[in-house]
Amino acid sequence: MSDPVVPTTVPRQVTVPAASSSSAIATRNVIEIEDLDFNYGASKALHDITLNIREREVTAFIGPSGCGKSTLLRCLNRMNDLIDIAKVTAGQIRIDGVNIYDPRVDVIELRKRVGMVFQKSNPFPKSIYENITYGLRIQGRKNKAELDEIVERSLRGAALWDEVKDRLHESALGMSGGQQQRLCIARAIAVEPEIILMDEPCSALDPIATAKVEELIHELKKQFTIVIVTHNMQQAARCSDRTAFFYLGRLIEYAETRTIFMNPSNPQTEAYVSGRFG
Ligand code: ADP
Repeated sequence: MSDPVVPTTVPRQVTVPAASSSSAIATRNVIEIEDLDFNYGASKALHDITLNIREREVTAFIGPSGCGKSTLLRCLNRMNDLIDIAKVTAGQIRIDGVNIYDPRVDVIELRKRVGMVFQKSNPFPKSIYENITYGLRIQGRKNKAELDEIVERSLRGAALWDEVKDRLHESALGMSGGQQQRLCIARAIAVEPEIILMDEPCSALDPIATAKVEELIHELKKQFTIVIVTHNMQQAARCSDRTAFFYLGRLIEYAETRTIFMNPSNPQTEAYVSGRFG
């Protein structure tokens, strides 16, 4: 890909709702990424990333394919540990002040606190009810009344309860794609995480299902810190408070979403958000 050229006048293609700005609310940094380098074998995928993510905000990672968005997202709950050649080679990620790459950190516990929703919904081939209680049962929670209560709360939280309350014991695989993705969100929130990572959660959904998930993201941020990777700039503009733009494994610009889309400081950001490359 050639470097973007920056013309003087650019048609803006992305509308940013006024409500996406949250500058008036001062929240604390829940995730602090500092001077992070990350390699797949000898190949460096992330270069010197420094970025703070605020509590109960939606932070969007945008940038052209291969720029490192998903890699960075997966660093936040150490999902990259599952790839042999993947390694943080410098820097730190702290969650609530604790370096999550410290050898003393319990990775299972970390992933409970930092849940994840993937690009393609991946419900288990079990009932709707069992999809939500699966993680809880593994934790040894067996009390039926408690599980019933969590199932209802999680499905309500994922804006799915009214649609499925009469078929909780039917297979999750009979749900529509959009419902399956909301079920995966319900499953993620059932274990009461602090942070939810979403890797292109709407890329397999139609516009109506996408709108429902976006509405849901808006609701969820009252309770959770959300980090979303998206290649859809309209989605970043609609859903997020802050946006980080990456290019070739580097963080180019990070600011309030409104600033990134309406008044970016970096010419590469401007070229990308105005649709001239990527
Ligand atoms: P994005 O999410 O922005 O599309 P990725 O984080 O998936 O980018 O990829 C960043 C870079 O890391 C790309 O060059 C990609 O080819 C490489 N990469 C991603 N996953 C792996 C992997 N499992 N093994 C080796 N290289 C990978």
